[in-house]
Amino acid sequence: MRRSQRRRRTVSAYRDGERVVVLIPAQFSGAEEREWVDRMLARLDAREQRNRRTDTYLAERAQRLIDRHLSDQRAAQAPISVRWVNNQHGRWGSCTPADRTIRISSRIMDFPEWVLDYVLLHELSHLVVPFHNARFWSLVARYPKAERARGYLEGVSAAAGLGISED
Ligand SMILES: [Zn+2]
Repeated sequence: MRRSQRRRRTVSAYRDGERVVVLIPAQFSGAEEREWVDRMLARLDAREQRNRRTDTYLAERAQRLIDRHLSDQRAAQAPISVRWVNNQHGRWGSCTPADRTIRISSRIMDFPEWVLDYVLLHELSHLVVPFHNARFWSLVARYPKAERARGYLEGVSAAAGLGISED
């Protein structure tokens, strides 16, 4: 806990190795300090919970999407490898149908789950159809929020000037 003379009202917290540093205004009372430390620790926990999207989490989401939307597609059934990657700058996700591997850009790690699910379903559909043809899009359209998710991704890409596209 650090008290700052310059701070008037704002409280913030961040992790510094094993410690959590909570910055509070110098004039806070002892009771306010305890209240804010508790509140900021809870907030930090919630933030970290959201960020705990591991490769295992991706694999579980992928299986759930296959069961829900691609259960009638034999090509989507066999085991796949799904993992996060940091080196994918121009695409949200990619799929290599030949070795059944899917890579998802870590840029979307904090995106809402329904957007992440859309990107996953898009790549999973490539296990069935490698190209963006009508049959492919009919598989993707099985995901109820497909259009909304595409709009979301286009918006993020445009706002950040990223020029990232689906693949
Ligand atoms: Zn694609």
